[in-house]
Amino acid sequence: MTETHEIVVEKVKESKIGNIDFDNLTFGKTFTDHMLECTWRNGNWENPVIKPYGPIMMEPSAKVFHYGQAIFEGMKAFRDEDDNVFLFRPEDNWKRFNESAKRLAMPEVPEEIFMYGLKKLVDLDREWVRYGDGLSLYLRPFMIASENGVAAAPSTEYKFMVVMSPAFAYYRGDVRVIIASQFSRAADGGIGYAKAAGNYAASFYPNNLALEEGYQQIIWTDAASHEYLEEAGTMNIFVRIGDKLLTAPNNDRILNGVTRRSVIQLAQDKGIEVEVRKISVAEVKEAAESGELKEIFGTGTAAVIVPIKGFKHEEYTHELPVLNDSYASDIKESIKDIHYNRVEDKHGWRV
Ligand code: PMP
Repeated sequence: MTETHEIVVEKVKESKIGNIDFDNLTFGKTFTDHMLECTWRNGNWENPVIKPYGPIMMEPSAKVFHYGQAIFEGMKAFRDEDDNVFLFRPEDNWKRFNESAKRLAMPEVPEEIFMYGLKKLVDLDREWVRYGDGLSLYLRPFMIASENGVAAAPSTEYKFMVVMSPAFAYYRGDVRVIIASQFSRAADGGIGYAKAAGNYAASFYPNNLALEEGYQQIIWTDAASHEYLEEAGTMNIFVRIGDKLLTAPNNDRILNGVTRRSVIQLAQDKGIEVEVRKISVAEVKEAAESGELKEIFGTGTAAVIVPIKGFKHEEYTHELPVLNDSYASDIKESIKDIHYNRVEDKHGWRV
């Protein structure tokens, strides 16, 4: 990687790390000492800076506040037993970030700013990446439209930033889901495949209704018919029927998950048959009734793999069995072995 954009580093006077209780982290609440900031104006990315984490100044007319021109990524750094620090498949996030940028009419971020900036930032705050099962540093690159003015047109100025948060588990406790039959997350030709801020805002209201009923997440179905499973709010979805693992194909409504791709590969490495195809709600309910439905689990960077304990669809409810030979646990162990450098990195995912 060439360092064509020199990154100026302004360090904190005193680190906050002494005040952090790493045994009691709430996901996404604590941020490290530093952040990265880079501005795009007049058609160019200006020199990025790393500086103390803190508030940024923006005018109330900045376009992001009015038109939601905002995208982000979620990725993680891990520490191994020998104090090496790794990113997991970061190029995949960089590429996806730029796919999101393109769809939201935002400028792409060049590799040397995204990757080199990320590495430099993680290296500076590497003490925040703790070793231990489930511990990681969650990295949040994002881009917002920072031009002032409320004309509904793409911004001519953007901020690319990275903030980082030490993380433990994303979910505490059981996760049960509602399979959507009314609301939709994304439509054909829309922005579902992009990691656009608005996709998440749109999901909060239906998700709140689900929470009121005691369900932590929604599994979205296709907007046209509500007959096929697509993905959850922040996770892709896998269903195990018999010994087969099924997951929905990517399309323009679904986020192309890095964890999903890794899980498909690791399952195949274990000799598990994986079918990437449309999964109907009817098929899942039939398998639930016949006893063939063994597992449903979600996959995503923040939570890695989350077993689903039960689901509801319209008036139908079902509890998943507790298994001794769960694919979710087995694959989760394998992915963690790669995260924490406990096994050879056969696929070249650690950076
Ligand atoms: N779907 C959605 C909507 C998400 O926000 C995420 C989290 N990025 C995922 C799936 C999982 O993607 P990944 O494995 O790349 O984190």
